[in-house]
Amino acid sequence: MTSTTTAAPIIIRMHERDNVAIVANDGGLPAGSVLPGGLVLVERVPQGHKVALQDLSAAAPVLRYGIPIGYTLKAIAAGSWVHEKLLDMPSARELVNLPMATLQPAPLLPLEGYTFEGYRNADGSVGTRNILAITQTVQCVAGVTDFAVRRIKAELLPRFPNVDDVVSLEHGYGCGVAIDAPDAIVPIRTLRNISLNPNFGGEVMVVSLGCEKLQPERLLPPGSIPLIDQRQAGAGPGADAVLDVVCLQDDAHVGFMSMVEAIVQQARAHLERLNARRRETVPASELVVGVQCGGSDAFSGVTANPAVGFCTDLLVRAGASVMFSETTEVRDGIDQLTARASSPEVAEAMVREMAWYDAYLQRGGADRSANTTPGNKKGGLSNIVEKAMGSIVKSGSAPITGVLAPGEKLKASGLTYAATPASDFICGTLQLAAGMNLHVFTTGRGTPYGLAAVPVIKVATRSDLARRWHDLMDVNAGTIATGEKTIEAVGWELFELMLEVASGRKKTWAEHWKLHNALVLFNPAPVT
Ligand code: CA
Repeated sequence: MTSTTTAAPIIIRMHERDNVAIVANDGGLPAGSVLPGGLVLVERVPQGHKVALQDLSAAAPVLRYGIPIGYTLKAIAAGSWVHEKLLDMPSARELVNLPMATLQPAPLLPLEGYTFEGYRNADGSVGTRNILAITQTVQCVAGVTDFAVRRIKAELLPRFPNVDDVVSLEHGYGCGVAIDAPDAIVPIRTLRNISLNPNFGGEVMVVSLGCEKLQPERLLPPGSIPLIDQRQAGAGPGADAVLDVVCLQDDAHVGFMSMVEAIVQQARAHLERLNARRRETVPASELVVGVQCGGSDAFSGVTANPAVGFCTDLLVRAGASVMFSETTEVRDGIDQLTARASSPEVAEAMVREMAWYDAYLQRGGADRSANTTPGNKKGGLSNIVEKAMGSIVKSGSAPITGVLAPGEKLKASGLTYAATPASDFICGTLQLAAGMNLHVFTTGRGTPYGLAAVPVIKVATRSDLARRWHDLMDVNAGTIATGEKTIEAVGWELFELMLEVASGRKKTWAEHWKLHNALVLFNPAPVT
């Protein structure tokens, strides 16, 4: 059962100070609708859009989530539609005089006894899937690698039934770039750390062209890859693993098929080792969850993101790792985040990442207002301030105990702010590099987003989207808006689904259909 325009009007106010609420009914509400409390709509208000709960004078603050999301450009009568063209966006909070680790939330109660079936790696990390990944140093080799991967899948993979998939880590980097520029560290460490994602079992193989700027030993220097290749390399304890590289320009290769054959043969040894692995029962604390949103609407911050936030708290209580990201979507709530940091050092690291991103945007002649999309606005989000307040709730209520710069590997469990752009593909790619083994993605407008390397659980913000995209959305949080379910109930549902998906007992819809978006590296450095 979901509401329609003929059902009783439903509006949602997020905070007692708010002077606007959003219309929850599918299809919106027509003029003349009588809202709970007796207010009458003076015009049609689309679903997810805001209605003025009182007369607002010109230049008055429009309050949502208890904070000003904008200031009225003219007087707005109670019962009117408050849309983005009527609002002036507040300026960004400066990164000074912020509350640093001032909130000391009561410790969350530990949550014990939850487990999943995962693949334990030599370095202690745990995979949720068993995948052979083929690293590439440069885009030039993408076609050859792709050809070889198709052969591996057709000829070899059926003989290794415990291996889930073979993926080529294709990207646009590696040559034609200013590789010695300071910021080149971001794409390079991203690629390095993705190669070491827990779902790849420590098996690293590289396809290189030969003449590229990003040479294999620069991408994966000695000591960066695990010693899993000991038997192959015949190395003793303490020795470095030997990097397994197929170089296409090597003199040994005569003809295209020689290159393909070399990649296929190298893959065989890795597949044999991966195939010998078995799932074992591990505590839920081994989950490394990346949360993000895309195609957001006004319901994102009302239904799906609060449910994810509740689930984030469950994960942190279980000792797991959760990363939230998307710098431009949390920048406007920086004071909330620095206050929630577990120590002044963590708060300072957060400010450092935000300042770096402010400067990056300024260098490109853009500011944070470049974030919101036409779809966001159609969905009722007037500007980035409103979007940010709804985005931050994904992070739940736990203290923030860690901060990562883009492309860095996760250092400790708990709640980490992993600084990334909000772009779905770049955020997902950077969270993969951080070591994510499960991805949660909320969407209001709808996106078929998926990644080849980790399962992506998609959460719909509205029942209408969940109904239409019934074979793409894994969880429907729209039931929160209609009062059918609570935030807590959907949060628990998501938590239980995560353990099922992590164990390989359930596939997400994106996995079922094999919907995979490209890896997209964040390269803030110049290209040449
Ligand atoms: Ca995003």
